[in-house]
Amino acid sequence: MATRKQAVLRCINSGLAALDTSIARVPPKTTDAFYLSKEWRAVLASIIKQRGRVCQRCGRTGCRIFGDHIHELKDGGARFDPKNVMLLCGSCHTSKTTHAKARRAAKVW
Ligand SMILES: [Zn+2]
Repeated sequence: MATRKQAVLRCINSGLAALDTSIARVPPKTTDAFYLSKEWRAVLASIIKQRGRVCQRCGRTGCRIFGDHIHELKDGGARFDPKNVMLLCGSCHTSKTTHAKARRAAKVW
């Protein structure tokens, strides 16, 4: 037996078409041109030379290292300031970026 809340929810028509996930395509991931610039690559190379190719969060070595903006560019962080850049492995970079995106999205609401 349905509760009153379930009965009410069943009656609501969102007006939105259902998304057919079998044909929906995820847009291809794109890289911001900034991260491909000579200026950024030079700054990152300099930071790696000074600090070593080590994840500054978990200490992992022998893997790809990302230059992560501590105060993200989308939030107004300094682009080329080494003090705003932390070297992270892929796992730590994904984790940090995901949390930053979630925080940013939460501010919208
Ligand atoms: Zn790490």
